[in-house]
Amino acid sequence: MTNVSRETFDEVMVPNYSPLKIIPVKGKGAKLWDKDGKEFIDFAGGIAVNALGHCNPELVSALKEQADKLWHLSNVFTNEPALELGQKLVNATFADKVFYANSGGEANEAAFKLARKYASENFGSDKNEIISFKQSFHGRTLFTVSVGGQPKYTEGFEPLPQGITHLEYNNLEMLENAVSDKTCAIVLEPVQGEGGIIPATQAFMQKVRELCDKFNAVMVLDEIQTGMGRTGELFAYMGYGVEPDVLTSAKALGGGFPIGAMLAKDKFAASLKVGTHGSTYGGNALACAVASKAFDLISAPSLLNGVKEKRALYETKLQMINEKYNVFDEVRGQGLLIGAVLNEKYLGRARDFMVASLEENLMILMAGPNVIRFAPSLVVTEAEIEQGMAAFEKAVAKIVE
Ligand SMILES: *Cc1c(COP(=O)(O)O)cnc(C)c1O
Repeated sequence: MTNVSRETFDEVMVPNYSPLKIIPVKGKGAKLWDKDGKEFIDFAGGIAVNALGHCNPELVSALKEQADKLWHLSNVFTNEPALELGQKLVNATFADKVFYANSGGEANEAAFKLARKYASENFGSDKNEIISFKQSFHGRTLFTVSVGGQPKYTEGFEPLPQGITHLEYNNLEMLENAVSDKTCAIVLEPVQGEGGIIPATQAFMQKVRELCDKFNAVMVLDEIQTGMGRTGELFAYMGYGVEPDVLTSAKALGGGFPIGAMLAKDKFAASLKVGTHGSTYGGNALACAVASKAFDLISAPSLLNGVKEKRALYETKLQMINEKYNVFDEVRGQGLLIGAVLNEKYLGRARDFMVASLEENLMILMAGPNVIRFAPSLVVTEAEIEQGMAAFEKAVAKIVE
């Protein structure tokens, strides 16, 4: 038997995380268990990763089947699972081409490098400015934290990559004034995730598209959190009817197996010529086999429609809780990316709600200090939503008292 505990974390791990006390050892669907067999409802879903629940039997089979065939080749060879997944992604989206990475941050790194390369190749090296938005989150590599709009994540890591401007999200006028011939890319999340579950307005999304066309800038949508069914669409851009030039995906793409992807139109993809960019693990056969199966399951219309129905149930439950306890200003987000915004009385206390929920055997998330986030598996059942929200209500009651 293992001889580790939460204390081991403090002994041997770099202190950049502060995990909760419980160490889950087993998962099934929307449930988790710790080593004492204590059961939890999981509305955190590995931070929007486990879209098909824990240990989804079809993903487990896909993984086991591929594990007996072939794991890894490097990009000196291609492999069948990578090609099959690539075909599926291209057929289902605006994109013509796919690049594989191992995480969201790496997919974004590829997208930002592509935008710079495309601009310098076609318009000269002065066209290098990236426009991004405050509170946005794009990953933790030095380039991606720099494009991200949360200064706390870049402090102390200077000097930072240059040529990046952060504007107010959903502010059309500010955007219009900032874009110029020097702009090589506008980068945004369709719904800001880590920044507080804030959806882009329809007008903002259209304005980004219009300005990118006008100034030959690459429209990059970071759909790492919003993509693969999370909003009830395969990708959130589909709900807006606005196509990007480049899109990044990760999180739910592998359903829990690490994989990221950058999707691009031919015109832009062409700039990453042989040797310009790469990844040892990118396109790993095992990862692609799992993601390929996850894609089949998530893209099913019945699953996507279910997301919208389940959201309605969450909203009803949250409304009922709020009528009783008056803790939220609003519930926002799209599909099963749900943000309950704490009102003035509970500002800064999202973590308290998270800890109180855990005491009621419910796992939830926060999105900044003022927003409680739910990002459950897309196959969470109605009964599990009822059970989880009953636990949440108890947690809320404790805090309010
Ligand atoms: C999680 C996330 C990332 C970073 O993904 P990693 O896999 O942690 O590198 C980037 N962008 C968005 C919108 C995310 O939610």
